[in-house]
Amino acid sequence: MAGTTVREYGAFAPQEEEVVAHAMSLDSALGLEGGLRLVPAAGEGKGRGLLASKAFEQGFVIFKDDPIAALHQNKDECWACERCLKVMGSASDRESWLARRSDSGEAGGSGSSSSKPDRAPRPVPCRGGCAELYCSEACESHAWGAYHRLICPAGGEIVGDPMQSAAYWMREFNEHADETNDIFRLAARVYAMVVASVVPKGGDAEADGSLLSLHLRSVRHAWKLPWWEQVALPHDVDDETEFRAQLKDLAKDSFDLLSGALRLRLPPSVEESGLLDGGFDLYGRLVGMFELNNLEIFHSAEAELGPVEGTAFYPLHSCMNHSCDPNVVMMFCDDDDEEGANGDPEAESYRCYAYATRDIGEGEEVTCSYLDQDQLQLSTEERQDLLRDYGFRCRCKRCE
Ligand SMILES: [Zn+2]
Ligand SMILES: [Zn+2]
Ligand SMILES: [Zn+2]
Repeated sequence: MAGTTVREYGAFAPQEEEVVAHAMSLDSALGLEGGLRLVPAAGEGKGRGLLASKAFEQGFVIFKDDPIAALHQNKDECWACERCLKVMGSASDRESWLARRSDSGEAGGSGSSSSKPDRAPRPVPCRGGCAELYCSEACESHAWGAYHRLICPAGGEIVGDPMQSAAYWMREFNEHADETNDIFRLAARVYAMVVASVVPKGGDAEADGSLLSLHLRSVRHAWKLPWWEQVALPHDVDDETEFRAQLKDLAKDSFDLLSGALRLRLPPSVEESGLLDGGFDLYGRLVGMFELNNLEIFHSAEAELGPVEGTAFYPLHSCMNHSCDPNVVMMFCDDDDEEGANGDPEAESYRCYAYATRDIGEGEEVTCSYLDQDQLQLSTEERQDLLRDYGFRCRCKRCE
């Protein structure tokens, strides 16, 4: 939502009362009592935004934010937990761990790699038998209950009609995502969370479900258009209709593969209940939401193992509007770095922290930059051109 105006969505724009009600329910869900206020209109023609309801000093952590879902993207270089992106070793550590595991013919394995420090997490494999590895029993259990039980690509050798194997559909889905857009993997995970929270079965899916349903309310309010409608038109494309139709087809192929698996893994009563009706629309909006609002994750827990790179959707971060002169910067904590974690005892690898880059007064809007440091040095015109991808024109002090 950050950076987009309600006005731009014309007929899709939610009613003012809906926006206010939504902002209030988000406030309580996100625990915004600590000096922040989510408002439906942050002024200067902007949509919702975050305001400081008390003064913050420079260097203060204004809020911490955990993602709804995170995707590890540099698997070739680094070994990290599928769910929380905690570093577990190098890519070759992963290979040798998997090799030892298959040698011993035993799920779970025992030793940790000698190149890793003692405090390195012990890898826990997916109980379904796919190649995903987690940093702890807790992470594996959480992921399984919340989403992975529906989208695990494992299922042994496929015998007989592959169409009757959920594993077949998920392998096809993953292959399609690898070839086209890996954001589909993230959208599938969150889509599975929504479905799993409505059809609970083991695990602690409910916690995710309740927060998610609030976020999905904003999706249903059509604050976000489906991916194929909101992606900015590339400069070299002439036929907009054709371009958007192609993107929609791509998303439909992806969704059909995902649905193929879910249909086989959910009780038949779920489909009959109509719970999955409108699923493609929701899927399209999720992809759109992640495409525009994701924060690139980049943290280096242990320098010699290389940095973890990924992308994730952070609910509070996504409420902030852009400014070319932002008063907040988002930072990740390093496992080694007590300071970065701000002494936070529950710090997870993917948790990020919003620091005040200068004193912020009561009532002032809290903003971050969607552009990186180098891009912020560009001319106003060049910055506006980059921001076009987000569908708005910046009206900050530097731009006006
Ligand atoms: Zn983990
Ligand atoms: Zn699995
Ligand atoms: Zn600006």
